[in-house]
Formats: sequence, C-alpha cells, structure tokens
Amino acid sequence: MIFSKQETLSRAELRAIQKERLLETVGRVYERVAPYREKMQAAGLTPADITSLDDLKKLPFITKQDLREHYPFGFCALPREQFARVHSSSGTTGKPTPTVFAKSDLDVWSECVARIASAGGATPEDMAQICFGFGMFTGAEGLQRGLERVGAAIVPSSAGNSEKQLLYMKDFGTTLLVATPSYAMRLSEVARGLGLEPARDLTVRTLVLGSELLTDAMREEMRLAWGRDVNITTNYGMSELMGPGISGECLEGGGLHVNEDFFIPEIIDPKTGEVLPEGELGELVITCIKREAMPLVRYRTGDLTRLFYAPCRCGRTTCRMENLQGRSDDMLKVNGVRLFPSQVEEIVLSVPELGPHYEIVLEREGYSDRMTVRVELATVTDSFRVLEEIERTVKAKLKTVLGLSIRVKLESPNTLERFEGKAKRVKDLRKKD
Ligand SMILES: [Zn+2]
Repeated sequence: MIFSKQETLSRAELRAIQKERLLETVGRVYERVAPYREKMQAAGLTPADITSLDDLKKLPFITKQDLREHYPFGFCALPREQFARVHSSSGTTGKPTPTVFAKSDLDVWSECVARIASAGGATPEDMAQICFGFGMFTGAEGLQRGLERVGAAIVPSSAGNSEKQLLYMKDFGTTLLVATPSYAMRLSEVARGLGLEPARDLTVRTLVLGSELLTDAMREEMRLAWGRDVNITTNYGMSELMGPGISGECLEGGGLHVNEDFFIPEIIDPKTGEVLPEGELGELVITCIKREAMPLVRYRTGDLTRLFYAPCRCGRTTCRMENLQGRSDDMLKVNGVRLFPSQVEEIVLSVPELGPHYEIVLEREGYSDRMTVRVELATVTDSFRVLEEIERTVKAKLKTVLGLSIRVKLESPNTLERFEGKAKRVKDLRKKD
C-alpha cells in the first residue's frame, strides 16, 4: 500500500518541492545556527548564493564530530522553550549525539515512518508488536508513531523477556513484528523451544526489521523461521537526522525508497567530497529540508551505498538507495584489511551445517591481529571428521572473500550469547592505542 501521494509525484514536481524547502532551510540555518553560518562564511557563501538544487553541492558538510563539538544543542535552529522532544544516540563510540524535535518535526516523523511501514506491508488492520527498547533510542518511538499513523494497533512490548513476548504474540494475534533481525531469529528459536512453529502456530505475516543490517542470507534464514510468504523489509534511519523514516524497502525488493520531500540524498566520494553520478558507490550525505528544530544540511552519514532514480514497480517515484553492506561504525580493521561483520555473516549462513549465531573475537598477538570466528553448529555431531570438514570449508570461504586467515571455532548449539536488542557480534580485545 502506498501511504501518501507525495511518494508518487513526478520528478519535476518533487524537485520543485525540494528546491523550495532547501532554500528556506538554508536561509533559516544561516540565520539561526551559528556553527553552520561560520562554515558557510568560511566557504565564502551566503544564502543568496544558493538559488537552485544544483547549488546544494556548494554547501559545506556537517560531520558527527561537528555535532560533538557543539554538544548538546549547538546545531538547533530553535530556542529550548520550543523543543518538543529530545532523543539521543547511545554514544557507544563517543559522546552521545542528541536529536531534537519540534512539534512539527514529530508530525513529519510519524508521516515518514507511516510511509516506510506501509511500504513494508503494514495495514490499518495490523496488530503490531514493537520489540525495540523504548527510551532514548529513536527506533521504538519512531515505529510506534508511524504504525499508529497507519492505523495499526500497537503492542509496545519493548525488548526482552522472549517467552512473554511469544505469549502476547500468540494470545493477542500479533500480525506485524518490529525487531532487530537477530532478535526476530531469537524469538523463532524460543518459540520452537516452547513447541510453537512460528509459521503454523503464530499469525505474524509482516516483519519490519531494523537497527541492524539485514543481509540477504539472514533474510533467507528469516523465511525459513517465519514462513515463506512473510513480508520482510528493512529500513534506514539515523538518530541525528530523525531516527527511522529516512528510507525503507518496498515489497518489490529493489532497494530502500527515500522520503525525498523531507530529505535530499547525495552520494559523494568520501575522499574528495565530490558528488558522484547515479549508481556509483560512495558515502551517503543527507540534507534535512523540512526539519524545524535541528535541520542538518549535508550531513555525512559515513554509510556507503548507491542511489537509483528509475521508477519502481511498486508505483513509487522516489529514489532508492541500495541496502547497506555495513554501517560505518561497524567496520573492522584487521591487519590493515577493512571488513564488515555482515560479510562474515553471509559466509557463516552459506554453510548448511552452521546455525545463524556467531561471534567475532579480535585479539592482538605480537604485532598483528588475530581474528577468530566462533560459530554454532546447527545440530550436534560427534564425528571428528565431519567437524574438521566444516571447519575447513568455513576457513576457505573466509580466506577467499576477506583475504585473511581466520581461525574458526565450532561451538555446540545454544552456547553463544543471545541478544534481545541489537546483537553484539564483535568482541574486540585488542588494546587501543
Ligand atoms: Zn518500490
């Protein structure tokens, strides 16, 4: 279902809206956000220099570092009395980065998430169970707002207590589940332990997944666990820019539709900052063009993706971004080689004898890094020969794809830690210098 007719405008209509909103935003930011005005002045620019969408590329970037330097509210365009809500990133990689909403921003948030939830199969008849932790994290609140706007009934069960989650799911007749991919897998596992076969005994038909990457291999595992016909989509958000609602997949499977009347996406060369043509891989930069409290202009997300502007079979005309291979914060550097945990996940899930649970352990050995992948077997086996064969297969695949010699440690089923929120797949024991 297409939630809003704004998702089907012609490119010319959409560009007209974007231009009007961009010019208004730049004028307001220049007037009210001192650190951004200084950046524009340093680049020799005033709002009068920005007269078209093409001029966007002249404007300076904002980085996470800028937000940290002006913590907490230096990039806000409104006085505190007009704030309606403050959320924040957890700050696992440094100072937390708050995100501020005016009343109008909350309304835009609901609209954006309602669109992506609808694109993922949500309907007003749904009973939607939200298994994201409620609190400072934008995920739970954003999905609740969006699904409410769609007209679904909300079960805000939050994270944790899987048996209780399944009790609600069964007794309330939950039809839509919001969770991280790893928690959705965990719930299916706990269900089986209770004698429930998710595809047969539960009524879930839509999985709106987020907050963690969804690899194609994990999507396939999800179908095995929850049923062939279940709608499975992922979406993209970033708390600094609003939270969930920037883009989301439709059911045609051709990428994530960007809510372009609220956000202008660009792809740049991360080294030179030059804007790259359609279809090229580069860093995603987002400009908020309808945000009252915290309108970030040309915010560098650090995430690598591509953009495509061809119309989609679903009927939406908004551009699509390719599903990410990894978030910039998740990238690992092992003996100089850059890799994402999702690459390890794809390999692990391609071996039928292995289950979907794994852990990457990084240690320092002399002057080099040692990487070990601990992974659970799908079923118990005592045959040394079989174990050796599996280990050899995984090692060879890791070597081919990542170009690294990685140790593999096979574990019995159900030995690795399970997560009720975002999975922690990496244990980095290397000393930071
Ligand atoms: Zn589509």
